[in-house]
Amino acid sequence: MRNALTAVGDRLRRPEYTGENRCLPCTVVNVCLTLVLAAVATVALTPLGGVVVLVGGLGAVYFRGYLVPGTPTLTVRYFPPWLLELFGKDVELRETLQPIEGVAVRATPEGGRLVDSFAAAWDDRIESIRATGASEADVATLLGVDEVSNVGEAAYVVDSGLRQWLSPSALLADAAAAAVLADRGDDAWTSLDPDERVATLRDLRKHLDYCPLCGGALDAEETETVETCCTESERVLMATCLDCDVRLIEDLNDR
Ligand SMILES: [Zn+2]
Repeated sequence: MRNALTAVGDRLRRPEYTGENRCLPCTVVNVCLTLVLAAVATVALTPLGGVVVLVGGLGAVYFRGYLVPGTPTLTVRYFPPWLLELFGKDVELRETLQPIEGVAVRATPEGGRLVDSFAAAWDDRIESIRATGASEADVATLLGVDEVSNVGEAAYVVDSGLRQWLSPSALLADAAAAAVLADRGDDAWTSLDPDERVATLRDLRKHLDYCPLCGGALDAEETETVETCCTESERVLMATCLDCDVRLIEDLNDR
């Protein structure tokens, strides 16, 4: 009997969300949810119904790590940083993204996510620049300089130096993000020098989940990190558009 139970447990067990990968916030949320459901079942059905829900729910949390599918993503997404920190989860943001924290990205245990209002403005701006491609004025705004001259595909001469982007697609994403940031006139952004701006935009671009040129899905090659809400995930090394095959991200020395 005991062996049979262990076998069933092994089959149900989801190692990516249990054991050392268990997420404390998810577990607490799901246990609370189980208690509420059990209480409802006790009142609406019978005390026995309540017990069945309680045992089933706690079993699911124990073996699978969660009751409601998708909770690991949900807690990371919707829990505020202070609450995650309370549960001992490190929220972090790359150094390059710190100047635009709160404006464009906010810190999460998985290395940050876009602020919703910024993401919407970024999408709009990508669409409006897409038809013509980034202009010299767009690139000047991006770098915070007076003048640039276009000398090739996604290549510009600035103060007698050359600046080149990975692809027109990458430049479009960066020029659109920079235009939104410039509009918001945030001091932390406007005080960055051209090198810092380029580095910030390059890391911000990793948070874009579609091809700015055609709107296609990206084929991202990632390192073999198990994705849970507690461990680091999404260490994207390269991202290429599945539709137009243009490369958006190429980051060989990740972190
Ligand atoms: Zn594309």
